[in-house]
Amino acid sequence: MIFVMQVLKFGGSSVANADNISKVIHLVRQALTKDRTILVVSAFGGITDMLIQAALSAAAGDEAYKESLQEIEHRHLETVRALLPITRQSAALSAVKTRCNEIEDICSGVYLLGELSPRTQDKIVSYGELLSSYIIAARFAALDLEHAWKDARELIVTDSRFGHAAVDFPRTNRNIREYIDSSSASLIVLPGFIAADEKGITTTLGRGGSDYTAAILAAAVDARVLEIWTDVSGMMTADPRLVSNVRLIPRISYQEAMELSHFGAKVIYPPTIQPVMRKNIPVWIKNTFAPEDPGTIIELDTLHNGDSIRGISSIPSIALISLEGSGMVGIPGFSKRLFEALSSYQINVILITQGSSEHSICVGIDESNVTTAKNAIDHSFQPEISSGTVDPLNVETGLSVIALVGDHMKSHPGISGKMFGAMGRNGVNVRAIAQGSSERNISAVIAAGDVKKAINVLHEEFFETSYRQLNRQCRPPPHRTASAPTGLASATIAHPAAGRRSGQ
Ligand code: ADP
Ligand code: ASP
Ligand code: MG
Repeated sequence: MIFVMQVLKFGGSSVANADNISKVIHLVRQALTKDRTILVVSAFGGITDMLIQAALSAAAGDEAYKESLQEIEHRHLETVRALLPITRQSAALSAVKTRCNEIEDICSGVYLLGELSPRTQDKIVSYGELLSSYIIAARFAALDLEHAWKDARELIVTDSRFGHAAVDFPRTNRNIREYIDSSSASLIVLPGFIAADEKGITTTLGRGGSDYTAAILAAAVDARVLEIWTDVSGMMTADPRLVSNVRLIPRISYQEAMELSHFGAKVIYPPTIQPVMRKNIPVWIKNTFAPEDPGTIIELDTLHNGDSIRGISSIPSIALISLEGSGMVGIPGFSKRLFEALSSYQINVILITQGSSEHSICVGIDESNVTTAKNAIDHSFQPEISSGTVDPLNVETGLSVIALVGDHMKSHPGISGKMFGAMGRNGVNVRAIAQGSSERNISAVIAAGDVKKAINVLHEEFFETSYRQLNRQCRPPPHRTASAPTGLASATIAHPAAGRRSGQ
């Protein structure tokens, strides 16, 4: 059977409570009038963090984990009571209780052993998405809306890197297509974020991974569109929690979106773009709480709007590690050994700079990896450290990366001068600089305490000057100024895939 399909994903805040879920249900019902729909949902807002906290407390021998689990159970039971008619409640309440008892059993095992493996942690957090998707599906059943609930672990196959599993795409795509072809449901509800390895053991796709689940499904079924529904009205020129005058980015290329999210724009989880980009499926970022707002469309190529910079983003909790020493000059293989040491411990490299003297290599990594990185690299360079040709790894913490992103930066000279000039004038000290060879970003490492100031200064420098000028001419309605670019407030954006693949 071939259908035109769409994939809709709703994040944690969109499904945080019964009122919000009702909004989601309304939006899904509207969407169903268009196409067959796959609905991917996150855990209720905050639940994943609470599950991790409960697991960590249990491992630390702290009985407080029981209270956290009670709170988790209470939130889910309350949501069931608020969403379902009395006649349907008892079955759903006991299903929720059964799952919560399972979490409790696992946590009590962790408590007794005093140990939490990544595998057990994945099992515990998986209940967040299992519970939310179950309750939302129960609401559809109460509305007599034909649907199927499907466990994502039966479709998405990964390796066994718990916490950050890598997807086996050939098997996953086959599973998804077979399932979709065999199902006649016009609405399929799935938990995001969770998957299983080839032995069927639960894995997860990384924090924020429900976006990725949705993209994997969209690419496998050649969806017409992937819609990511969240708590902001699209991708903005900066994180609205850090800058008050942000502007909406109405359209953005896959590469720019990937770069912005890689450098911290949490609105979309970085791996999400890859599968849909390969299939040229547009991604539409929409606000569950303001569905009439146009949102952002991520697509292959976008019209250049005249801005050389699309957005500014930042990554918190960065450490800079640098390897230095006179013995490094001109000798090949040093960087290879450094990166091998990092990759053998699966430490993700966020940014690299190397002085042209080849006297030092400097790498930005997540602060949580510092001890492992230091041990691994010092061990790998032990002979050179002993002979004094290389210094022990130098580590600096308490840093953040800040990045300017835009496809058209390369054709606009002077951007880095403007960037570093603005930061310098405002007393922001730059510890390291990197520019991607694609020239799609310039990134700098600065003190964590300077991030808010730096982003605001750069936002003003690159976006607000011309914005203020335009604003004076056009005077958009005041409530729109923070979220929509001038002139766009009343414009309508066509559905990203209108007319696309209509024959499928
Ligand atoms: P969800 O739970 O729906 O997946 P997330 O919290 O993961 O939502 O992502 C949405 C958040 O991303 C927003 O509330 C916003 O604070 C943050 N964010 C960071 N950078 C940006 C940006 N450039 N544009 C929009 N939102 C951003
Ligand atoms: N619930 C998971 C998390 O909080 C996945 C997601 O929401 O995308 O990371
Ligand atoms: Mg998210």
